[in-house]
Amino acid sequence: MAALTRLLRSAATSGSTARISLSTLASEPKTGFPAGLAARLAPALTRKERDERNVQWVFLGCPGVGKGTYASRLSQLLGVPHIATGDLVREELASTGPLSQKLVDIVNQGKLVSDEIIVELLTKRLSKGEEKGESGFILDGFPRTVRQAEILEGVMDIDLVVNLKLREDVLVEKCLGRRICSECGKNFNLARINVEGQNGQPGMYMPPLLPPSGCMTKLITRADDTEEVVKERLRIYNDMSLPVEEFYRRQGRLLEFDLPGGIPESWPKLLQVLSLEEHHDDKQLAAA
Ligand code: ADP
Repeated sequence: MAALTRLLRSAATSGSTARISLSTLASEPKTGFPAGLAARLAPALTRKERDERNVQWVFLGCPGVGKGTYASRLSQLLGVPHIATGDLVREELASTGPLSQKLVDIVNQGKLVSDEIIVELLTKRLSKGEEKGESGFILDGFPRTVRQAEILEGVMDIDLVVNLKLREDVLVEKCLGRRICSECGKNFNLARINVEGQNGQPGMYMPPLLPPSGCMTKLITRADDTEEVVKERLRIYNDMSLPVEEFYRRQGRLLEFDLPGGIPESWPKLLQVLSLEEHHDDKQLAAA
């Protein structure tokens, strides 16, 4: 990340090679983009070796799958920032900045924000983190298009991509059950998922993630968590983001994880597949 932000800072002041940044790449014309991009970028980058930095992971998965929940728990465990581009977009929406007006319709219709804007927001976030001395990250909600994946690939090494998976009917129910506390910002879920096993597939139970009494009266629902918009987001995921899974699968960096149930069941299994099971009994995280 240091390399990226150094590159971004120098982009403002120096010559042609250093001008390559996440933002400038996103602005490149799509035609012919981005054959040989990584090779073209390589000379401009000083990528940190794996042992010089913390993990750089990506979480993929459909809306409602729980990327935020598991990415945020892992980020606490590993001491890296959890960077969710959806949160960056919502922060922008809540501001009075010029971008806010541009984004509101796109997001509320469940469409994707342009690669240019999302890369700009992510670049700002990474630069701020770098200034604070952050090392490593868990990205959640980025990349969502192959173009974004290629841009990311051009500037930094991604060690692992975790692909969380759940049945589509459960995803819709989970999105509709999502609530946020308007005061503390924490996420909860009122949905109680209890599906029968079918076609040889096991059933699944996911208890609701209820807020403490202090938050109960302050719960709000995201404007894009209506049934119509959730279905549109799922359609767009299948269209634009399934190819991203394939992008990482081909590189052998995709870890597929079928969620077996709610947090109590899934968290220890996720730790196990990530070889982090020694943290299984972490009391603070277990309670989160
Ligand atoms: P979800 O619950 O669908 O995973 P997020 O909270 O990740 O939702 O994102 C909310 C919205 O923010 C998306 O529907 C989209 O409009 C925008 N967004 C977030 N990340 C990206 C991205 N990488 N590319 C384009 N748009 C994005």
